[in-house]
Amino acid sequence: MTHQVHIIGGGLAGSEAAWQLAEAGHKVRLSEMRGSGDTTAAHDSDRLAEMVCSNSFRSDDATANAVGLLHQEMRALGSLVMTAAEIHKVPAGSALAVDREGFADEITRRIEAHPNITLVRERIDALPATGSTIIATGPLTAPGLAAAIAVAAGSDALAFFDAIAPIVHRDSIDMGICWMAARWDKGGKDYINCPMDKSQYDAFIAALNAGEKTEFKEWERDTPYFEGCMPIEVMAECGPETLRFGPMKPVGLDNPRDSSPEYPNGRWPHAVVQLRQDNALATLWNIVGFQTKLKHADQMRIFRTIPGLHGAEFARLGGIHRNSFIRSPELLDPELRLKALPHIRFAGQITGCEGYVESAAIGLLAARFAAAEIAGSTLAAPPLETALGALLGHITGGATAETYQPMNINFGLMPPLTGPKVKKGDRKRMYTDRAREELGKWLTDANQTLESA
Ligand SMILES: Cc1cc2nc3c(=O)[nH]c(=O)nc-3n(C[C@H](O)[C@H](O)[C@H](O)COP(=O)(O)OP(=O)(O)OC[C@H]3O[C@@H](n4cnc5c(N)ncnc54)[C@H](O)[C@@H]3O)c2cc1C
Repeated sequence: MTHQVHIIGGGLAGSEAAWQLAEAGHKVRLSEMRGSGDTTAAHDSDRLAEMVCSNSFRSDDATANAVGLLHQEMRALGSLVMTAAEIHKVPAGSALAVDREGFADEITRRIEAHPNITLVRERIDALPATGSTIIATGPLTAPGLAAAIAVAAGSDALAFFDAIAPIVHRDSIDMGICWMAARWDKGGKDYINCPMDKSQYDAFIAALNAGEKTEFKEWERDTPYFEGCMPIEVMAECGPETLRFGPMKPVGLDNPRDSSPEYPNGRWPHAVVQLRQDNALATLWNIVGFQTKLKHADQMRIFRTIPGLHGAEFARLGGIHRNSFIRSPELLDPELRLKALPHIRFAGQITGCEGYVESAAIGLLAARFAAAEIAGSTLAAPPLETALGALLGHITGGATAETYQPMNINFGLMPPLTGPKVKKGDRKRMYTDRAREELGKWLTDANQTLESA
């Protein structure tokens, strides 16, 4: 099969892009190096769309949360990632979390079976000289291709650090100490909560501060962290209370084992460590927000001081990796094409968006732009009032190139609301209402343009 578009990288973005193009009737070659003897520092398998850390796509609330809105917009555009997530979701309160193996298997199976997609397990080390190409090789792009990109882009790739949280076997957790609940009872009782009193918390913080950390290499020293993925020991260094206001915050979590006539539902502990279901069988649970660069022996020693985790068996320990992304606002045009080589588009985290959902969303858009181009047409960018448009706008020019940092979708990327003063509690709903209306109009126009091409 000769292909019309070559997609390099079968992660979240590349898989979504391949699916979108194939469903539009275009022939795709999808090159993925895992499965050919290569891998990255974070992937564990040869599956496409492997989630390397958390198993969560974050909030699924499309009325009050920007990432929930992005989910909804992607569903409206036939997203493969969202379809597979729906099939393999696991309980996670108001978040959309999945069984990571089932999810990635689903995507791999569908891509392999699609008649318009040829999946080739190969590593690509150079930018294709001609032909429509989408580079979706992610934050851990293989070094050969990363070097080729840096040369073509005429600029060094930027870098930051990202970290992975540990995963614990459910049957090693002491449920005589922990309890199941969601914060403020929102959603189901989906999280395992480990309560800490003040002396336990203080000892834990002291142990984190004293624990042995992975040393950075010389060239890594000045690389900043992505703030949403900061290791716990780095947060602990910021001050003893930082974790209690971050991943260990106790608010809204009544511990039923600490009830009294005055507090029949129990009281909030001094601090709480939460675990979230990580697979459909509910046998594996990840420690929420516990990304870490502690050495493995110290992770086991320190995390086993958490009440309820004294016998914890770890299915995976935490780790830390360097991520790369390009200076997209300067290098890419509004259709995600490299200005210097317009047959090449970029998609996914390498563009400087952050997160599974955002990466898949940019893969979706890159594919739609490429599909319109093949059809001899041009697809207008989604309006900035939509989550898709806001994210794309940020990457392709909205952000300042000099200070460009990876970004999750948020309402702050959208134009502010206009009109009469809005009550604070109504703002998010007004953003999402406006986005839905704008996406509807954009979709109608896009379909009409495609039909007349
Ligand atoms: C350590 C770490 C932890 C993270 N934790 C989270 C998290 O908890 N939540 C979250 O939302 N996001 C997290 N992220 C970000 C996450 O990587 C992205 O959200 C998402 O996986 C990016 O999707 P992508 O498709 O751009 O890249 P990826 O999913 O990484 O896919 C890129 C693919 O390209 C392949 N590839 C690379 N180079 C080549 C080449 N030269 N030739 C062929 N194939 C190649 C790789 O094997 C990979 O399959 C984390 C990232 C890292 C590195």
